[in-house]
Amino acid sequence: MAYTPATEELIRALQLLPGIGTRSATRMALYLLERDTDSARQLSHSLADALEKVHRCPSCRTLTELPVCPVCESTDRNTKLVCVVANDADRSAIEMSNRFTGRYFVLHGVLSPMDAVGPEQLGVFDLVDKVKAESIEEIMFVLDDQMESEATIYYITEQLKGLNVKCSRAMVAHLKNGSLDQAESRHLVSAIEHKREINIEQK
Ligand SMILES: [Zn+2]
Repeated sequence: MAYTPATEELIRALQLLPGIGTRSATRMALYLLERDTDSARQLSHSLADALEKVHRCPSCRTLTELPVCPVCESTDRNTKLVCVVANDADRSAIEMSNRFTGRYFVLHGVLSPMDAVGPEQLGVFDLVDKVKAESIEEIMFVLDDQMESEATIYYITEQLKGLNVKCSRAMVAHLKNGSLDQAESRHLVSAIEHKREINIEQK
């Protein structure tokens, strides 16, 4: 073993982060343990604190520290229009554009059988129940154009058949984790304004 057991464990834990391989994880672990233990303690504290406080809104699955997220709580939103996004960063990007007045539903992923992500994990049945219970009139998907996203939209719209809900889609090639520059923000707003209807009954 090249490092102590606890160091090895930390390296393994860091590798769980997206895009982090063994080499990067090792570099980060050694940096935190050798050179910047104050930051390491801060990181550890912030992570524990966030895990303690942050949870999914029971209505829309947005990450929140409140019992219900501010968007679901607000009386100023269009409660009949729900925007379905893959993750909280995309929701945040749309919210920051200030052009969407409906509510959200965050899937926290897209269908991916290889990673054991199915409709249950994405809350698809909760979404269907929500459409029924709240008489939602339109579901707008803002997902990218990858195959898994297409499959996810197809699956969800199949479940919504016969529920008298309009489905639409804003085509966005790539959403950038909540930190959009001006051009990207314009692109997002334009995609939402030019959303296309999905005819779910005739698929
Ligand atoms: Zn909510």
